[in-house]
Amino acid sequence: MSNLKKFLNKLHLILIDSKIKQVIKLEQLKRKRRIRLDRIFILIGGLLVCVGLMIGGFFVIKGLFAKDVIADEYAKASEENKLQDVKIKNSVYAEEMENGETFVYAIHTPDLGKDVNEKIEKFVEASKEEKGTVTHVDFTSNSAFDQYRSYVITLRKYAYMDGLEPVDVVATQHLYINYDQNQLIDLDHVVRGKVIDRISLENKIKPEELKLVSINEKGIVMDAKGKSIEYSYVDHPTSFVMENKNVPTLLKYPKIEVKKREIDPDRPMVAFTFDDGPAPGNTERILRALEKVKGRATFFELGSLMEEYPETVRAITKSGSEVANHSYDHPWLTEMSLEDAIANVQKTNDIFFSLTGNEINVVRPPYGAYNEAIENGLTEDIVLWDVDTRDWESRNTKSVVKMAKDYTYDGAIVLFHDIHDSTIPAVEELIEYYHSKGYQFVTVSELYEARGK
Ligand code: ZN
Repeated sequence: MSNLKKFLNKLHLILIDSKIKQVIKLEQLKRKRRIRLDRIFILIGGLLVCVGLMIGGFFVIKGLFAKDVIADEYAKASEENKLQDVKIKNSVYAEEMENGETFVYAIHTPDLGKDVNEKIEKFVEASKEEKGTVTHVDFTSNSAFDQYRSYVITLRKYAYMDGLEPVDVVATQHLYINYDQNQLIDLDHVVRGKVIDRISLENKIKPEELKLVSINEKGIVMDAKGKSIEYSYVDHPTSFVMENKNVPTLLKYPKIEVKKREIDPDRPMVAFTFDDGPAPGNTERILRALEKVKGRATFFELGSLMEEYPETVRAITKSGSEVANHSYDHPWLTEMSLEDAIANVQKTNDIFFSLTGNEINVVRPPYGAYNEAIENGLTEDIVLWDVDTRDWESRNTKSVVKMAKDYTYDGAIVLFHDIHDSTIPAVEELIEYYHSKGYQFVTVSELYEARGK
């Protein structure tokens, strides 16, 4: 019994012990599980944070990266049609807009020194204000004869970006810059004023709308509001004024610089005009009489006589008086084909240019005879007269003086002929007379400018 009891007791103790141990084990187990769960939670939490960071970072990095890629893509000017030694100013950035679109602003312009750079900056200024679009400015450049350089700056605006590609051009603008020995030059440094006027007339644009695009070794390229016009040196030998041995010129004498002067529009004035010359001797006498009163006049001359008396033509231009066009050989322009009539006038313009480097602004058709087609076909103004002294008819000095005094008024255009000797003393007397009455002696062009037509 006691043995059995002892055994049972022992067993009970063992059972209790094992139960305790079990409980302990269970507790331990539970604790272990709890620890494992904690770790898992930490792990999962950590992973989530990592993923979150990665996703967030991805977008942040992606955004930065995309802008960098875009900026890189546009960072450099294209190398097409550019002179090697041109310094380039680059200004590039890409920016994400509130609407998610990327605004790209890439400006590549030649660095041409302060004056020209200012012109270029003004040109691109407008594009900076207008965000939400893609602005891309680049240029081409070329040179000719180691003297001339030209730059065409093109500004393009796009509606939006598709990836890296700008899409939908919304505006294109060109700025033409021509550069000659560090001087900005314009079209009138390259071609004659007559050429600018003629092309403008034929293309129905204003002279200032005709732009010089480039000078190359065969000729020049102009732009008439989007229309490209090429003039080669071979095909247009009478057109150019470039001082370069490779370019043909009509000029046979040194160019005469004529200074413009101020006319007081409120003081009385008269425009004396002399037809059918030049008449060496007579013409110079009139110039001397004008000189005494600081006056000027207009001489409507024949091209054929200009060829004969170049020094008289040059003397008129040097004095500040105006040489104008009275045709080449005094025909009835209205009796000729329009083409021939215009060619007759142009030939005279060319002769005057060849003698002085200046251009003629006004034409008086022989006999005052013209029609609408001639008027529309000429780039010059047609000028007739207000007072006819009929000096060609009377050939009498007193009669010429009387006719002029009877009819001349403030702003009148008075007609004489300097080829008639009897006219000259009359003109000398009339100049003194009108000068004493406070009149200014002006050219027809000065009269038009001071008073309008
Ligand atoms: Zn005449």
